[in-house]
Amino acid sequence: MKKRISILLVILVMLGSTIGVSADDQIGGVYEIDHVTVIFDENSQFSTDKQEVIANLLVHPEYGVAQANLICALFGHDNISETVVTITHKVNDTSPRCLQELFTVTSCNRCGETSTERTGYYYITCCPAD
Ligand SMILES: [Zn+2]
Ligand SMILES: [Zn+2]
Repeated sequence: MKKRISILLVILVMLGSTIGVSADDQIGGVYEIDHVTVIFDENSQFSTDKQEVIANLLVHPEYGVAQANLICALFGHDNISETVVTITHKVNDTSPRCLQELFTVTSCNRCGETSTERTGYYYITCCPAD
């Protein structure tokens, strides 16, 4: 009887960890904007709201806006810096078709002022040929 209970516990723990993993997958921010996939680190320090803003900024840099903040003006920004990956799909007609780029994104927690710097890029096999 005791053995049966411990087996049940093991199954429950296994089930629990499986559920835990799939939940984590959903938290690691992936955004699809137009024909671009923006991928944040699964342990990203950026909040979900912030990730959305940064993803939009990477795809549409012309929309970048920063509000002036008095505290930042006096004491400097409260910056977080992280690497963000973008995949721009179907930039080439033939394989490898998609462009993967790495950006260092620096964003202020207070005012939201964000700068992006491309640190690398390479073409990947991702989308099939038409
Ligand atoms: Zn700031
Ligand atoms: Zn692709």
